[in-house]
Amino acid sequence: MVKIDKTKCIGCGACQSICPEVFEMTDDNKVKIKSQKDVPCVKEAIESCPVDAIS
Ligand code: SF4
Repeated sequence: MVKIDKTKCIGCGACQSICPEVFEMTDDNKVKIKSQKDVPCVKEAIESCPVDAIS
């Protein structure tokens, strides 16, 4: 299951650009999990998050 640590997330938007199927930015620059899909880009997004907020 994908989880975002909202206390760590800085709203950079990288996860959404890498994996828009799963991550969605809200209007206040927070990340929302759109769907719990088991797609390969989730792993990529985890690795690309600058503050390790995705697990
Ligand atoms: S990549 Fe990480 S810091 Fe950037 S918006 Fe996504 S969860 Fe937040």
